[in-house]
Amino acid sequence: MRVFFALCLFACAPPTPDQRPLVAFEGETMGTYYRVQVAGEEMSEDRRRTVHEASVAAMEEVNAAMSTYLEDSEISRLNRHQESSPFAVSGATFEVLRTATEISEMTGGAFDITVGPLVAAWGFGAASTLDQLLEPHRLEDQEISNLLQRIGYDKMKLDEANSTIAKDYGGLQCDLSGIAKGFAIDRVAERLASLEVADFWVEIGGEVRAAGKNAHGKPWRLGIERPSLTPGTVQRIVPLDDLAVATSGDYRNYHEIDGERYSHIIDPRDGRPIGHRLASVSVFHPRCTIADAWATALMVLGESEGYEIAVTEGLAALFLVREGDELVELETPAFRELLPKTI
Ligand code: ADP
Ligand code: MG
Repeated sequence: MRVFFALCLFACAPPTPDQRPLVAFEGETMGTYYRVQVAGEEMSEDRRRTVHEASVAAMEEVNAAMSTYLEDSEISRLNRHQESSPFAVSGATFEVLRTATEISEMTGGAFDITVGPLVAAWGFGAASTLDQLLEPHRLEDQEISNLLQRIGYDKMKLDEANSTIAKDYGGLQCDLSGIAKGFAIDRVAERLASLEVADFWVEIGGEVRAAGKNAHGKPWRLGIERPSLTPGTVQRIVPLDDLAVATSGDYRNYHEIDGERYSHIIDPRDGRPIGHRLASVSVFHPRCTIADAWATALMVLGESEGYEIAVTEGLAALFLVREGDELVELETPAFRELLPKTI
């Protein structure tokens, strides 16, 4: 079983006397934890159940459609559809595949949901994307170039009118781990809004979207973790006002092979786990789907190329870069504009 090492985030709220009601639900989904908080509303038992069940249903729908860990998910069935004939998917799955493809195009393929066979070959992810999950070992150049032949987001054609996907290469495998959590969060947020919940915090495995105010009538506050092997140190606290944040990092989910660390994020351009000085990157965006995919993409691109493209695309992003024993913060202009008063 895969263990998820979520980047820990904290809903930070100093105690003040003007407390408003706060209801929280927690549990497990998508191989990690979720937490939903609703503030400022006295809830009847019925209302509480409705809100909780709607949140869980939204997450489970996304998981049931997009998990590579479930044999019957749409994505697993698409992965088993080893032909180039079109394969019909739901509107939700199509939307995620389209967003993923757009970000692949914008990043010259740094973000690529077809990278699964390489992720598995380096010892991570769902075994179903490769014949079996291998013991972590350093791959030979030849193995890497063979696997590189089997990947490429551009080997997948999306037909919006028919909501179908056609693969140029039947063996192409999709892995939505870098984007699906963000999408699930957006779905929960939409469901909460439709139930007229105004003040909420939705978190899945470290990605968050928050709207309205917290239990103190202030914007929700998020602690961005200081990348280190000991969890729980806060680097930076930021207010979240109708905003989502996703963080990707190289410091939790990795293997050690002969004393060297190998990340679960693979650079599809050379087929190797990323290796640069970028320790983590947090992306702020109204939609968590976009934030999630960009965080993974920028993590692949690293502190120079990633920062440059984040600036060009107007993304609000905070990069934490290792310089010797120090951690240096790099903020994009959009980040400074969005969060001018962060601590
Ligand atoms: P986490 O799952 O820890 O929140 P990310 O959102 O950054 O982190 O997603 C990382 C996952 O995305 C990996 O475990 C792998 O399944 C997948 N992945 C790895 N490299 C890439 C890539 N270059 N493009 C898209 N997805 C990737
Ligand atoms: Mg991601």
